[in-house]
Amino acid sequence: MNCVCGKPLTYNEMGLSKKFLADGEMLCLQCLSARLNVSEKRLEEKIEEFLRAGCKLFVKE
Ligand SMILES: [Zn+2]
Repeated sequence: MNCVCGKPLTYNEMGLSKKFLADGEMLCLQCLSARLNVSEKRLEEKIEEFLRAGCKLFVKE
């Protein structure tokens, strides 16, 4: 699966998309960052938080 920008999506990017976007839309980290108006660094921190919480939508990379 690819982002609207054409970039192939990672498992964690799809996880973030499921958490933060409606309608099953899938975006890469850069596009999510622009859409949500949140820094990519902050999104990476969110991935870490979800991982620590045991969320199965994310994997350790
Ligand atoms: Zn993208």
